[in-house]
Amino acid sequence: MSAHAPAFDHEAYLRAIGWDGPPASPHGVACEVCDEDAPVTLVAEVDAGEQARVALPVVGCPRCGHVYQNPRFDAAFYETWYDRHYRRQVFGESQPERDYVADQARRGEYLARSLGQQLPATGALLDVGCSAGASMMAFARRGWRVLGTDPDAACTRYGRDTLGLDVRTEAAERMALPDGHFDFVMIIGSLEHVHDVGRVLSLCRAATRPGGRLLLEGRALGFGIQRGRFSHNHRRYLHARSMELLMLRHGWQPEWTTTDPLSGPTRPGAVHVLGCAAEPMPLPSLHARIAGGCRETIPALRARLASVLGAIA
Ligand SMILES: [Zn+2]
Repeated sequence: MSAHAPAFDHEAYLRAIGWDGPPASPHGVACEVCDEDAPVTLVAEVDAGEQARVALPVVGCPRCGHVYQNPRFDAAFYETWYDRHYRRQVFGESQPERDYVADQARRGEYLARSLGQQLPATGALLDVGCSAGASMMAFARRGWRVLGTDPDAACTRYGRDTLGLDVRTEAAERMALPDGHFDFVMIIGSLEHVHDVGRVLSLCRAATRPGGRLLLEGRALGFGIQRGRFSHNHRRYLHARSMELLMLRHGWQPEWTTTDPLSGPTRPGAVHVLGCAAEPMPLPSLHARIAGGCRETIPALRARLASVLGAIA
């Protein structure tokens, strides 16, 4: 049985985003954090680029408060979207802009300094959804062995050919990684874009050595609230609690949650969670953690989202 989803004119959505791929139809998605299947619509319309609004339901989970797009399309739809459209929308041309790469490099330097006390001096780093990979340069300079993955072929080619980095063209759900290898995995923003968040986090966990760390950065929710509108490009809009719960479910113990600007001043609204490799938490234990208060409530989310909701009304 498919999961519940609010009504959605997907043809209008596909037209609004300039979709030119094969016919695509959406399906309902249960909560990716806790499996609850009773979505509550929080936001009815999102930006479809150039500030055009389009109907696309963003829902909240009444059990844990996870905020996510529902319904959604299948994996092939999003792979085609990121391959054909996403970079053009973000960069406006085929190669990542110099300014973007310079900003990535600066964010990496901020991260390396911010996390200096929490990480070993050197080790093996994986950057999931790394784009050109410039965020890894600060770590490479400090002696880290670095590997980045991203589905965007033009960005990863730039990382290899121009920046000289080990960057693979790979969707996060299909990463081929060595077992128990990495000391530090970072997913800075891109976890909000991936299609199958559980699979990505499980792959990362299997590739992390005992004692290894994971850093998640979420900003779609905080930045959306600051701007007064959400982007249609995010499959989920992560907050501190949803990142902590995703970590627990997929094998990390959250150690440090902060809204401090760990990656510098160019990521307003970002929140970070750093976790240590652990065992995945069984669902009943996760539900008990949620019942104990590791959650957001729908009324609290509605209050936080007043700027986004108000802009639509
Ligand atoms: Zn949930």
